[in-house]
Amino acid sequence: ISKSPFVKIAGSDIDGILRGKYLDKSKFESSIKKGLGFCSVIFGWDSSDSAYDNVSFTGNHTGYPDIGARPDLATFRTIPWEYDVPLFLMDFIGNDGQPLPVCPRSTLKKVIKKCQEHGFDPVQGMEFEWYNYSENNKSLLTKNFSNLEPLSNGMFGYSLLRTSQNSEFMNSLAELQGFGVPLEGLHTETGPGVYEAAIRFSTALESADRAILFKHCTKEIASLQGILASFMAKPFKDLPGCSGHMHQNFNCLKTGKNLFLDEKDPNQMSDVFKSFMAGQLLLLPEFLPFFAPTINSYKRLVDGYWAPTTPTWGIDNRTVALRVIKGGKATRSEFRVTGSDVNPYISIAASFAAGLYGVINKLELKHKPIIGNSYDLYKKGLVERLPRSLAESTELLSKSKIAKEYLGEEFVDHFVETRRWEYRQFNHQVHKWELERYLEII
Ligand code: GLU
Ligand code: MG
Ligand code: MG
Repeated sequence: ISKSPFVKIAGSDIDGILRGKYLDKSKFESSIKKGLGFCSVIFGWDSSDSAYDNVSFTGNHTGYPDIGARPDLATFRTIPWEYDVPLFLMDFIGNDGQPLPVCPRSTLKKVIKKCQEHGFDPVQGMEFEWYNYSENNKSLLTKNFSNLEPLSNGMFGYSLLRTSQNSEFMNSLAELQGFGVPLEGLHTETGPGVYEAAIRFSTALESADRAILFKHCTKEIASLQGILASFMAKPFKDLPGCSGHMHQNFNCLKTGKNLFLDEKDPNQMSDVFKSFMAGQLLLLPEFLPFFAPTINSYKRLVDGYWAPTTPTWGIDNRTVALRVIKGGKATRSEFRVTGSDVNPYISIAASFAAGLYGVINKLELKHKPIIGNSYDLYKKGLVERLPRSLAESTELLSKSKIAKEYLGEEFVDHFVETRRWEYRQFNHQVHKWELERYLEII
């Protein structure tokens, strides 16, 4: 029983940041039936392009009206580190009570429905790597992050010493187990202050709920201990970036059997599995903003850091985009393109949509499994290189008919506009690098 008079409700914005508020219990009860109003401004959810551009502000502005939100009762949890406050995730709805086309969680539900219409139950488990620093209130206020102190030093992947030196933080993350975000494993990953957690697999919607809650709640729990947990994809150019890998397969909706497994195939891979991967690989360049949504994501997708740079696959190969894991009943693909900065609702929706496209169209894999280091392949002209920037990939996405068909035209158009806004903001800035390079010498 909660010691708090409040209920917390939370929903994903377009960037995968949880937005929400406390409600008193009677307001919460009425919101179950009627929904409640939420100002659209927090999502930048305005239909006119100008709303995304604070430089020229013209055009048809709607004036940031309310949108609706409705709690999903199936997501009920209580927050152990906050007086056991009840928490519900919510979906955003329009005036007609229908899902709002730009709502990430509703978009995932739409893709899941499409998979189910073909007899597939999308199943997945997500893993996150993230950096941890001492939280220095002064730097948080000024955003001067030049002297960040990592929680632990050295590269030290799988260091038992480092985890036990931070056992208070490690064990407080165990509160997530009882909170409905079960972790299968937790360890130090390569890089100063980097940790990694594997969240237990489940249905696609539950997996996305767990993933967004994991990111948000890890930041909350860390902050209570003076730690800044960051899911930025690549904070430092010479250190490894942070992944948000997705382990995926289709189960048969009727029988629950893993449809990716074929015992007779030399790699235990069924035709459904092969076509699923072929669809994902084909669509990877034009779907890339869904998996690498920030300016910074592209700094992670570089050669030599265990992150992929090409649309390739291999058996237990960590240099390719899709790593096949032969595991009998647990046979699956590890989708390695996604960084820890993704919006899980969107990355899960887009990856299953791409896989489903491959299966429906019976696509075939274009190359044999890559053995060894994949990083030289595009330099030899054997495969294409993935787009190198958000600007490049966003313009590809803006022309993707398949993205619009599977995720909805309004969703894709909106997402594209928010990405354009992001790189316009970046381009307006004069960066530290430019000063260092030009100021004195030119
Ligand atoms: N840190 C790597 C990345 O950013 C992934 C390392 C791993 O395979 O766990 O993709
Ligand atoms: Mg890792
Ligand atoms: Mg992994």
